[in-house]
Amino acid sequence: MWRQAYWNEPLITEYKGRGRQGFLIPKEEIEIEINVPEKVKREDGPNLPELSELEVVRHFIRLSQMSFGVDTGMMPLGSCTMKYNPKIEEESSKVGENTHPLQDEETVQGNLEAIYEMQRWLAEVTGMDECSLQVPAGSAGELAGVLMARKYHRDMSRKRNEMLVADTAHGTNPASAAMAGFTVIYVKSNSEGLVDLDVLKETVTERVAGFMLTNPNTMGLFEENIKEIAKLIHSIDGILYYDGANLNGILGIVRPGDMGFDIVHLNLHKTFGVPHGGGGPGAGAVCAKGKMAKYLPYPIVTKNGKYELIKPERSIGKISVFHGNFGNLMRSYAYVLGLGSEGISMIGRMSSLATNYLISKLKGVRGFELIAPHRFRKHEVVFSVKKLANETGVTAFDVAKALLDRGFYAPTIYFPPNVEEALMIEPTETETVETLDQFAQALKEISETAYKNPATITSSPINTSVGRLDQVKANHPSSLTPTYRVYRAKADMKEDINIER
Ligand SMILES: *Cc1c(COP(=O)(O)O)cnc(C)c1O
Repeated sequence: MWRQAYWNEPLITEYKGRGRQGFLIPKEEIEIEINVPEKVKREDGPNLPELSELEVVRHFIRLSQMSFGVDTGMMPLGSCTMKYNPKIEEESSKVGENTHPLQDEETVQGNLEAIYEMQRWLAEVTGMDECSLQVPAGSAGELAGVLMARKYHRDMSRKRNEMLVADTAHGTNPASAAMAGFTVIYVKSNSEGLVDLDVLKETVTERVAGFMLTNPNTMGLFEENIKEIAKLIHSIDGILYYDGANLNGILGIVRPGDMGFDIVHLNLHKTFGVPHGGGGPGAGAVCAKGKMAKYLPYPIVTKNGKYELIKPERSIGKISVFHGNFGNLMRSYAYVLGLGSEGISMIGRMSSLATNYLISKLKGVRGFELIAPHRFRKHEVVFSVKKLANETGVTAFDVAKALLDRGFYAPTIYFPPNVEEALMIEPTETETVETLDQFAQALKEISETAYKNPATITSSPINTSVGRLDQVKANHPSSLTPTYRVYRAKADMKEDINIER
Protein backbone atom coordinates (compact mmCIF):
# COMPACT_ATOMS: atom_id res chain seq x y z
CA MET A 1 0.00 0.00 0.00
CA TRP A 2 1.78 3.13 -1.08
CA ARG A 3 -0.60 5.82 0.01
CA GLN A 4 -3.87 6.29 1.79
CA ALA A 5 -7.22 6.47 0.14
CA TYR A 6 -8.93 9.80 0.75
CA TRP A 7 -12.48 8.97 -0.14
CA ASN A 8 -14.20 10.71 2.71
CA GLU A 9 -12.13 13.82 3.09
CA PRO A 10 -14.23 17.00 3.37
CA LEU A 11 -14.14 19.91 0.99
CA ILE A 12 -12.54 22.93 2.59
CA THR A 13 -15.95 24.55 3.04
CA GLU A 14 -17.18 21.49 4.93
CA TYR A 15 -14.76 21.78 7.85
CA LYS A 16 -16.66 22.28 11.12
CA GLY A 17 -14.32 24.67 12.88
CA ARG A 18 -15.18 28.34 13.37
CA GLY A 19 -13.05 31.25 14.48
CA ARG A 20 -9.78 29.44 13.96
CA GLN A 21 -6.97 31.42 12.46
CA GLY A 22 -3.63 30.70 10.92
CA PHE A 23 -1.91 33.83 12.14
CA LEU A 24 -2.74 37.23 13.54
CA ILE A 25 -2.28 40.38 11.55
CA PRO A 26 -1.61 43.51 13.62
CA LYS A 27 -4.79 45.62 13.46
CA GLU A 28 -3.21 49.00 12.73
CA GLU A 29 -1.65 47.75 9.50
CA ILE A 30 -4.88 46.72 7.89
CA GLU A 31 -7.09 49.72 8.43
CA ILE A 32 -8.60 50.26 5.05
CA GLU A 33 -11.69 52.31 4.44
CA ILE A 34 -13.92 50.99 1.71
CA ASN A 35 -17.09 52.83 0.89
CA VAL A 36 -19.43 50.11 -0.25
CA PRO A 37 -22.93 51.46 -1.00
CA GLU A 38 -25.49 50.11 1.48
CA LYS A 39 -27.75 48.67 -1.19
CA VAL A 40 -25.10 46.35 -2.63
CA LYS A 41 -23.86 45.11 0.74
CA ARG A 42 -24.57 41.42 1.37
CA GLU A 43 -26.67 40.46 4.36
CA ASP A 44 -24.83 37.35 5.47
CA GLY A 45 -21.16 36.70 5.72
CA PRO A 46 -19.49 34.81 2.85
CA ASN A 47 -19.28 31.60 4.91
CA LEU A 48 -15.58 31.22 4.30
CA PRO A 49 -13.81 28.40 6.09
CA GLU A 50 -12.12 29.45 9.31
CA LEU A 51 -9.31 27.02 9.83
CA SER A 52 -6.07 26.79 11.71
CA GLU A 53 -2.82 26.87 9.79
CA LEU A 54 -2.27 23.16 10.46
CA GLU A 55 -5.66 22.26 9.02
CA VAL A 56 -4.94 24.30 5.90
CA VAL A 57 -1.51 22.76 5.45
CA ARG A 58 -2.89 19.25 5.85
CA HIS A 59 -5.77 19.95 3.50
CA PHE A 60 -3.61 21.15 0.63
CA ILE A 61 -0.85 18.60 1.12
CA ARG A 62 -3.56 15.92 1.05
CA LEU A 63 -5.01 17.39 -2.15
CA SER A 64 -1.58 17.32 -3.75
CA GLN A 65 -1.30 13.64 -2.82
CA MET A 66 -4.61 12.80 -4.44
CA SER A 67 -3.01 13.49 -7.77
CA PHE A 68 -0.15 11.76 -9.50
CA GLY A 69 2.85 13.49 -11.00
CA VAL A 70 6.30 12.58 -12.15
CA ASP A 71 7.54 13.94 -8.81
CA THR A 72 5.49 11.18 -7.14
CA GLY A 73 6.38 8.22 -9.29
CA MET A 74 7.15 6.88 -12.75
CA MET A 75 4.85 8.05 -15.56
CA PRO A 76 5.35 5.62 -18.44
CA LEU A 77 2.80 7.40 -20.67
CA GLY A 78 3.92 6.49 -24.19
CA SER A 79 4.26 9.19 -26.84
CA CYS A 80 4.18 11.86 -24.15
CA THR A 81 7.70 11.83 -22.67
CA MET A 82 6.90 12.44 -19.01
CA LYS A 83 10.45 12.88 -17.81
CA TYR A 84 11.70 14.46 -14.61
CA ASN A 85 11.87 18.25 -14.83
CA PRO A 86 14.82 19.62 -12.82
CA LYS A 87 13.63 22.06 -10.15
CA ILE A 88 16.19 24.73 -11.09
CA GLU A 89 13.91 25.45 -14.05
CA GLU A 90 11.36 27.01 -11.71
CA GLU A 91 13.85 29.76 -10.90
CA SER A 92 14.68 30.41 -14.53
CA SER A 93 10.99 30.62 -15.45
CA LYS A 94 10.89 33.84 -13.42
CA VAL A 95 13.53 35.74 -15.39
CA GLY A 96 10.96 37.66 -17.38
CA GLU A 97 8.77 38.40 -14.39
CA ASN A 98 9.47 42.13 -14.34
CA THR A 99 9.17 42.70 -18.06
CA HIS A 100 6.17 43.09 -20.33
CA PRO A 101 5.83 41.71 -23.86
CA LEU A 102 4.85 45.16 -25.17
CA GLN A 103 8.04 46.75 -23.86
CA ASP A 104 10.41 48.33 -26.33
CA GLU A 105 12.94 45.84 -27.74
CA GLU A 106 15.84 47.97 -26.50
CA THR A 107 14.74 47.40 -22.91
CA VAL A 108 14.40 43.60 -23.07
CA GLN A 109 17.62 42.65 -24.80
CA GLY A 110 18.33 39.91 -22.23
CA ASN A 111 14.99 38.21 -22.83
CA LEU A 112 15.46 38.40 -26.59
CA GLU A 113 18.98 37.00 -26.31
CA ALA A 114 17.63 33.98 -24.44
CA ILE A 115 14.94 33.40 -27.11
CA TYR A 116 17.56 33.83 -29.84
CA GLU A 117 19.86 31.25 -28.24
CA MET A 118 16.98 28.76 -27.85
CA GLN A 119 16.09 29.27 -31.53
CA ARG A 120 19.70 28.52 -32.51
CA TRP A 121 20.05 25.48 -30.25
CA LEU A 122 16.79 23.93 -31.43
CA ALA A 123 17.69 24.58 -35.07
CA GLU A 124 21.02 22.86 -34.40
CA VAL A 125 19.59 19.71 -32.79
CA THR A 126 16.88 19.33 -35.44
CA GLY A 127 19.06 20.17 -38.46
CA MET A 128 16.76 23.04 -39.47
CA ASP A 129 17.69 26.58 -40.53
CA GLU A 130 15.34 28.63 -38.40
CA CYS A 131 12.93 28.18 -35.47
CA SER A 132 9.94 30.11 -34.19
CA LEU A 133 9.13 29.69 -30.50
CA GLN A 134 5.80 31.40 -30.91
CA VAL A 135 3.75 28.21 -30.71
CA PRO A 136 2.40 27.27 -27.27
CA ALA A 137 2.29 23.49 -27.88
CA GLY A 138 3.15 20.74 -30.32
CA SER A 139 -0.30 20.73 -31.90
CA ALA A 140 -0.06 24.49 -32.48
CA GLY A 141 3.26 23.78 -34.19
CA GLU A 142 1.50 21.26 -36.41
CA LEU A 143 -1.17 23.74 -37.38
CA ALA A 144 1.56 26.28 -38.14
CA GLY A 145 3.41 23.66 -40.18
CA VAL A 146 0.48 22.64 -42.34
CA LEU A 147 -0.52 26.27 -42.87
CA MET A 148 3.05 26.90 -44.02
CA ALA A 149 2.81 24.01 -46.47
CA ARG A 150 -0.51 25.35 -47.73
CA LYS A 151 0.84 28.83 -48.26
CA TYR A 152 3.91 27.47 -50.02
CA HIS A 153 1.82 25.54 -52.55
CA ARG A 154 -0.43 28.54 -53.09
CA ASP A 155 2.63 30.68 -53.74
CA MET A 156 3.59 28.12 -56.37
CA SER A 157 0.05 28.44 -57.83
CA ARG A 158 -0.72 24.78 -57.19
CA LYS A 159 -3.84 23.10 -56.04
CA ARG A 160 -2.80 20.67 -53.33
CA ASN A 161 -5.64 19.64 -51.08
CA GLU A 162 -4.47 16.34 -49.58
CA MET A 163 -2.32 15.82 -46.51
CA LEU A 164 -0.88 12.38 -45.86
CA VAL A 165 -0.80 11.13 -42.27
CA ALA A 166 0.58 7.83 -40.96
CA ASP A 167 -2.12 5.52 -39.58
CA THR A 168 -0.22 5.42 -36.27
CA ALA A 169 -0.22 9.23 -36.02
CA HIS A 170 -1.31 11.14 -32.96
CA GLY A 171 -4.84 12.51 -33.36
CA THR A 172 -3.54 16.05 -33.53
CA ASN A 173 -1.97 15.35 -36.95
CA PRO A 174 -5.22 14.75 -38.84
CA ALA A 175 -6.92 17.44 -36.72
CA SER A 176 -4.33 20.07 -37.69
CA ALA A 177 -4.46 19.06 -41.35
CA ALA A 178 -8.27 19.25 -41.35
CA MET A 179 -8.21 22.63 -39.60
CA ALA A 180 -5.97 23.94 -42.36
CA GLY A 181 -8.56 22.76 -44.89
CA PHE A 182 -6.80 19.62 -46.13
CA THR A 183 -8.39 16.28 -46.87
CA VAL A 184 -6.62 13.76 -44.64
CA ILE A 185 -5.33 10.58 -46.28
CA TYR A 186 -4.12 7.83 -43.96
CA VAL A 187 -1.05 5.86 -45.00
CA LYS A 188 -1.18 2.30 -43.72
CA SER A 189 1.64 0.70 -41.75
CA ASN A 190 2.99 -2.71 -42.73
CA SER A 191 3.12 -5.75 -40.43
CA GLU A 192 6.47 -4.54 -39.08
CA GLY A 193 4.81 -1.36 -37.80
CA LEU A 194 6.59 0.86 -40.36
CA VAL A 195 5.23 3.03 -43.18
CA ASP A 196 4.32 0.73 -46.07
CA LEU A 197 6.37 2.05 -48.99
CA ASP A 198 4.21 0.39 -51.62
CA VAL A 199 1.08 1.94 -50.16
CA LEU A 200 2.83 5.30 -49.97
CA LYS A 201 3.90 5.11 -53.62
CA GLU A 202 0.28 4.65 -54.66
CA THR A 203 -0.87 7.50 -52.45
CA VAL A 204 1.61 10.13 -53.60
CA THR A 205 0.01 12.12 -56.40
CA GLU A 206 0.03 15.72 -57.62
CA ARG A 207 -2.82 16.44 -55.19
CA VAL A 208 -0.63 15.81 -52.15
CA ALA A 209 0.67 18.82 -50.22
CA GLY A 210 2.81 16.87 -47.80
CA PHE A 211 3.27 13.99 -45.36
CA MET A 212 3.13 14.27 -41.58
CA LEU A 213 5.34 11.68 -39.95
CA THR A 214 7.07 10.99 -36.67
CA ASN A 215 10.37 9.15 -36.46
CA PRO A 216 10.92 7.09 -34.39
CA ASN A 217 7.27 6.30 -34.88
CA THR A 218 4.57 5.65 -32.33
CA MET A 219 5.67 2.01 -32.05
CA GLY A 220 9.10 3.22 -30.92
CA LEU A 221 10.51 1.96 -34.22
CA PHE A 222 12.87 3.91 -36.42
CA GLU A 223 11.49 4.40 -39.93
CA GLU A 224 14.51 2.94 -41.66
CA ASN A 225 13.20 3.86 -45.12
CA ILE A 226 13.03 7.52 -44.23
CA LYS A 227 15.44 8.58 -47.01
CA GLU A 228 13.28 6.84 -49.58
CA ILE A 229 10.12 8.30 -48.08
CA ALA A 230 11.65 11.79 -48.26
CA LYS A 231 12.67 11.23 -51.88
CA LEU A 232 9.17 10.13 -52.79
CA ILE A 233 7.50 13.14 -51.14
CA HIS A 234 10.04 15.53 -52.65
CA SER A 235 9.52 14.04 -56.10
CA ILE A 236 6.20 15.91 -56.22
CA ASP A 237 7.67 18.87 -54.26
CA GLY A 238 5.63 17.83 -51.23
CA ILE A 239 6.52 18.97 -47.73
CA LEU A 240 7.79 16.35 -45.27
CA TYR A 241 6.59 17.32 -41.81
CA TYR A 242 8.24 15.99 -38.65
CA ASP A 243 6.07 15.48 -35.59
CA GLY A 244 8.74 16.03 -32.94
CA ALA A 245 6.92 14.42 -30.02
CA ASN A 246 9.18 11.38 -30.36
CA LEU A 247 12.44 13.27 -30.71
CA ASN A 248 13.52 11.98 -27.30
CA GLY A 249 14.44 8.63 -28.86
CA ILE A 250 17.00 10.05 -31.28
CA LEU A 251 18.09 13.33 -29.71
CA GLY A 252 21.83 13.72 -30.09
CA ILE A 253 22.14 10.84 -32.54
CA VAL A 254 20.39 11.80 -35.75
CA ARG A 255 18.56 14.96 -36.90
CA PRO A 256 15.24 15.26 -38.75
CA GLY A 257 16.83 17.80 -41.12
CA ASP A 258 19.41 15.23 -42.19
CA MET A 259 16.65 12.67 -42.80
CA GLY A 260 14.98 14.98 -45.32
CA PHE A 261 12.28 16.67 -43.24
CA ASP A 262 11.36 20.25 -44.19
CA ILE A 263 9.37 21.37 -41.16
CA VAL A 264 9.59 20.18 -37.55
CA HIS A 265 7.60 20.86 -34.43
CA LEU A 266 8.99 20.27 -30.98
CA ASN A 267 7.10 19.75 -27.76
CA LEU A 268 9.31 21.52 -25.24
CA HIS A 269 7.11 20.10 -22.46
CA LYS A 270 7.99 16.59 -23.59
CA THR A 271 11.56 16.55 -24.85
CA PHE A 272 13.01 19.71 -23.33
CA GLY A 273 12.17 19.55 -19.65
CA VAL A 274 9.11 21.79 -19.33
CA PRO A 275 6.54 20.29 -16.95
CA HIS A 276 3.36 19.34 -18.79
CA GLY A 277 1.04 22.23 -18.08
CA GLY A 278 3.76 24.15 -16.22
CA GLY A 279 2.45 27.69 -15.92
CA GLY A 280 0.49 27.47 -19.15
CA PRO A 281 -0.44 24.96 -21.80
CA GLY A 282 3.18 24.10 -22.46
CA ALA A 283 5.67 25.34 -24.98
CA GLY A 284 6.54 24.46 -28.52
CA ALA A 285 8.74 25.32 -31.40
CA VAL A 286 8.24 25.11 -35.12
CA CYS A 287 11.39 24.96 -37.20
CA ALA A 288 11.94 24.92 -40.95
CA LYS A 289 14.60 24.37 -43.53
CA GLY A 290 15.47 26.07 -46.80
CA LYS A 291 12.55 27.40 -48.80
CA MET A 292 10.12 26.82 -45.91
CA ALA A 293 11.86 29.06 -43.34
CA LYS A 294 10.31 32.23 -44.74
CA TYR A 295 6.82 30.97 -43.84
CA LEU A 296 7.45 30.58 -40.09
CA PRO A 297 5.15 32.31 -37.58
CA TYR A 298 6.47 35.61 -36.26
CA PRO A 299 8.04 37.14 -34.26
CA ILE A 300 11.45 35.55 -34.62
CA VAL A 301 14.48 37.07 -32.89
CA THR A 302 17.48 37.98 -35.02
CA LYS A 303 20.85 39.37 -34.03
CA ASN A 304 21.87 42.48 -35.84
CA GLY A 305 24.36 43.96 -33.42
CA LYS A 306 21.44 44.01 -31.02
CA TYR A 307 18.53 41.59 -30.80
CA GLU A 308 15.48 42.44 -32.88
CA LEU A 309 12.09 40.93 -33.57
CA ILE A 310 11.38 40.23 -37.21
CA LYS A 311 8.60 38.85 -39.37
CA PRO A 312 9.75 36.29 -41.95
CA GLU A 313 9.02 37.39 -45.52
CA ARG A 314 6.04 35.07 -46.17
CA SER A 315 5.10 34.39 -42.54
CA ILE A 316 1.76 32.67 -41.98
CA GLY A 317 1.18 35.15 -39.14
CA LYS A 318 0.92 34.57 -35.44
CA ILE A 319 -0.25 31.35 -33.85
CA SER A 320 -0.57 32.74 -30.33
CA VAL A 321 0.03 36.04 -28.59
CA PHE A 322 3.35 37.85 -28.26
CA HIS A 323 6.52 35.70 -28.17
CA GLY A 324 5.12 32.35 -27.05
CA ASN A 325 5.09 31.10 -23.47
CA PHE A 326 8.20 32.90 -22.33
CA GLY A 327 8.26 31.44 -18.81
CA ASN A 328 8.18 27.93 -20.21
CA LEU A 329 10.76 28.77 -22.86
CA MET A 330 13.05 29.80 -20.01
CA ARG A 331 12.45 26.48 -18.27
CA SER A 332 13.70 24.77 -21.43
CA TYR A 333 16.58 27.23 -21.63
CA ALA A 334 17.76 26.17 -18.16
CA TYR A 335 17.26 22.50 -19.07
CA VAL A 336 19.45 22.77 -22.16
CA LEU A 337 22.10 24.84 -20.37
CA GLY A 338 22.13 22.37 -17.49
CA LEU A 339 22.70 19.34 -19.71
CA GLY A 340 25.03 20.98 -22.20
CA SER A 341 25.70 19.43 -25.58
CA GLU A 342 27.19 16.32 -23.97
CA GLY A 343 24.15 15.77 -21.78
CA ILE A 344 21.70 16.46 -24.60
CA SER A 345 23.45 13.94 -26.83
CA MET A 346 22.94 11.27 -24.14
CA ILE A 347 19.13 11.63 -24.11
CA GLY A 348 18.44 9.50 -27.19
CA ARG A 349 20.90 6.83 -26.05
CA MET A 350 19.70 6.62 -22.46
CA SER A 351 15.98 6.67 -23.26
CA SER A 352 16.48 3.90 -25.85
CA LEU A 353 18.58 1.89 -23.41
CA ALA A 354 15.86 2.18 -20.75
CA THR A 355 13.20 0.96 -23.20
CA ASN A 356 15.17 -2.03 -24.42
CA TYR A 357 16.16 -2.92 -20.85
CA LEU A 358 12.49 -2.92 -19.88
CA ILE A 359 11.65 -5.13 -22.88
CA SER A 360 14.28 -7.64 -21.77
CA LYS A 361 12.77 -7.62 -18.26
CA LEU A 362 9.27 -8.24 -19.63
CA LYS A 363 10.28 -11.17 -21.77
CA GLY A 364 8.03 -14.14 -21.11
CA VAL A 365 5.36 -12.28 -19.14
CA ARG A 366 2.26 -14.36 -19.76
CA GLY A 367 -0.33 -12.78 -22.03
CA PHE A 368 1.98 -9.95 -23.17
CA GLU A 369 3.04 -9.86 -26.81
CA LEU A 370 5.63 -7.60 -28.38
CA ILE A 371 4.98 -6.42 -31.93
CA ALA A 372 7.98 -6.98 -34.23
CA PRO A 373 10.05 -8.52 -31.40
CA HIS A 374 13.26 -8.73 -33.42
CA ARG A 375 13.51 -4.95 -33.76
CA PHE A 376 15.23 -2.65 -31.32
CA ARG A 377 13.09 0.09 -29.89
CA LYS A 378 13.92 3.70 -29.40
CA HIS A 379 12.20 5.69 -26.66
CA GLU A 380 9.03 3.61 -26.31
CA VAL A 381 7.49 0.22 -26.85
CA VAL A 382 4.02 -1.13 -27.58
CA PHE A 383 2.82 -4.42 -26.11
CA SER A 384 -0.44 -6.11 -26.97
CA VAL A 385 -2.28 -7.83 -24.11
CA LYS A 386 -4.88 -9.31 -26.44
CA LYS A 387 -3.84 -12.80 -25.35
CA LEU A 388 -4.22 -11.86 -21.68
CA ALA A 389 -7.66 -10.41 -22.43
CA ASN A 390 -8.75 -13.54 -24.31
CA GLU A 391 -7.46 -15.95 -21.68
CA THR A 392 -8.37 -14.11 -18.46
CA GLY A 393 -10.78 -11.30 -19.35
CA VAL A 394 -8.24 -8.77 -18.04
CA THR A 395 -7.90 -6.01 -20.63
CA ALA A 396 -5.32 -3.27 -21.28
CA PHE A 397 -7.67 -0.94 -19.42
CA ASP A 398 -7.59 -3.22 -16.35
CA VAL A 399 -3.80 -3.55 -16.46
CA ALA A 400 -3.53 0.25 -16.51
CA LYS A 401 -5.83 0.57 -13.49
CA ALA A 402 -3.93 -2.16 -11.61
CA LEU A 403 -0.67 -0.25 -12.14
CA LEU A 404 -2.17 2.75 -10.33
CA ASP A 405 -2.63 0.56 -7.26
CA ARG A 406 1.04 -0.36 -7.44
CA GLY A 407 2.35 3.21 -7.39
CA PHE A 408 2.82 3.73 -11.12
CA TYR A 409 1.00 5.95 -13.53
CA ALA A 410 -0.76 4.16 -16.37
CA PRO A 411 0.87 3.74 -19.76
CA THR A 412 -0.98 4.97 -22.85
CA ILE A 413 -3.61 2.36 -23.73
CA TYR A 414 -5.49 1.44 -26.93
CA PHE A 415 -3.00 3.46 -28.95
CA PRO A 416 -1.71 3.21 -31.62
CA PRO A 417 -5.02 2.03 -33.10
CA ASN A 418 -3.38 -0.63 -35.30
CA VAL A 419 -2.51 -2.72 -32.21
CA GLU A 420 -5.29 -4.47 -30.32
CA GLU A 421 -5.28 -4.13 -26.51
CA ALA A 422 -2.23 -1.90 -26.77
CA LEU A 423 -0.07 -0.82 -23.84
CA MET A 424 2.30 1.90 -24.94
CA ILE A 425 5.15 2.35 -22.50
CA GLU A 426 7.78 5.09 -22.44
CA PRO A 427 10.20 4.84 -19.52
CA THR A 428 12.38 7.93 -20.40
CA GLU A 429 16.02 8.43 -19.54
CA THR A 430 15.36 9.84 -16.09
CA GLU A 431 14.18 6.65 -14.35
CA THR A 432 16.73 4.55 -12.48
CA VAL A 433 17.35 0.90 -13.23
CA GLU A 434 15.77 0.04 -9.83
CA THR A 435 12.55 1.83 -10.80
CA LEU A 436 12.49 0.03 -14.16
CA ASP A 437 12.89 -3.27 -12.29
CA GLN A 438 10.01 -2.41 -9.97
CA PHE A 439 7.81 -1.44 -12.90
CA ALA A 440 8.59 -4.71 -14.74
CA GLN A 441 7.91 -6.62 -11.52
CA ALA A 442 4.54 -4.88 -11.14
CA LEU A 443 3.49 -5.89 -14.67
CA LYS A 444 4.65 -9.47 -14.09
CA GLU A 445 2.70 -9.69 -10.86
CA ILE A 446 -0.41 -8.21 -12.54
CA SER A 447 -0.20 -10.88 -15.25
CA GLU A 448 0.21 -13.69 -12.67
CA THR A 449 -2.70 -12.37 -10.62
CA ALA A 450 -4.83 -12.09 -13.77
CA TYR A 451 -4.39 -15.81 -14.45
CA LYS A 452 -5.08 -16.78 -10.81
CA ASN A 453 -7.68 -14.31 -9.68
CA PRO A 454 -8.74 -11.90 -12.44
CA ALA A 455 -11.40 -10.21 -10.28
CA THR A 456 -8.75 -8.53 -8.12
CA ILE A 457 -7.35 -6.88 -11.24
CA THR A 458 -10.67 -5.94 -12.82
CA SER A 459 -11.79 -4.25 -9.59
CA SER A 460 -8.69 -2.08 -9.26
CA PRO A 461 -7.79 0.63 -8.44
CA ILE A 462 -8.59 0.50 -4.74
CA ASN A 463 -5.68 2.50 -3.31
CA THR A 464 -6.26 5.72 -5.22
CA SER A 465 -8.35 8.68 -4.11
CA VAL A 466 -11.05 7.82 -6.65
CA GLY A 467 -11.84 4.38 -8.01
CA ARG A 468 -13.13 3.59 -11.49
CA LEU A 469 -14.81 6.54 -13.09
CA ASP A 470 -18.01 6.41 -15.05
CA GLN A 471 -16.41 6.62 -18.49
CA VAL A 472 -19.54 7.86 -20.21
CA LYS A 473 -20.18 10.57 -17.65
CA ALA A 474 -16.54 11.60 -17.65
CA ASN A 475 -16.68 12.14 -21.40
CA HIS A 476 -20.14 13.61 -21.76
CA PRO A 477 -20.30 17.35 -22.44
CA SER A 478 -23.22 17.82 -20.01
CA SER A 479 -20.89 16.94 -17.14
CA LEU A 480 -18.65 19.88 -18.05
CA THR A 481 -18.98 23.34 -16.56
CA PRO A 482 -21.14 25.78 -18.56
CA THR A 483 -18.14 27.97 -19.40
CA TYR A 484 -16.56 25.11 -21.30
CA ARG A 485 -17.05 25.38 -25.02
CA VAL A 486 -16.10 23.05 -27.78
CA TYR A 487 -14.64 25.04 -30.59
CA ARG A 488 -15.24 23.38 -33.89
CA ALA A 489 -12.56 23.58 -36.48
CA LYS A 490 -13.74 25.25 -39.61
CA ALA A 491 -12.52 23.26 -42.55
CA ASP A 492 -13.18 26.05 -45.00
CA MET A 493 -10.82 28.68 -43.69
CA LYS A 494 -10.30 31.66 -45.91
CA GLU A 495 -7.23 32.36 -47.98
CA ASP A 496 -4.18 33.19 -45.86
CA ILE A 497 -5.90 33.18 -42.52
CA ASN A 498 -3.69 35.06 -40.18
CA ILE A 499 -4.54 33.72 -36.79
CA GLU A 500 -3.48 37.06 -35.46
CA ARG A 501 -4.78 38.65 -32.34
C1 LIG B 1 1.75 14.94 -27.64
C2 LIG B 1 1.78 14.70 -29.07
C3 LIG B 1 1.30 15.66 -29.98
C4 LIG B 1 0.59 16.93 -29.54
O1 LIG B 1 1.40 17.79 -28.84
P1 LIG B 1 0.89 18.83 -27.75
O2 LIG B 1 2.13 19.53 -27.35
O3 LIG B 1 0.26 18.05 -26.66
O4 LIG B 1 -0.07 19.75 -28.43
C5 LIG B 1 1.45 15.40 -31.32
N1 LIG B 1 1.99 14.24 -31.76
C6 LIG B 1 2.44 13.28 -30.91
C7 LIG B 1 3.04 12.01 -31.46
C8 LIG B 1 2.34 13.48 -29.53
O5 LIG B 1 2.75 12.53 -28.69
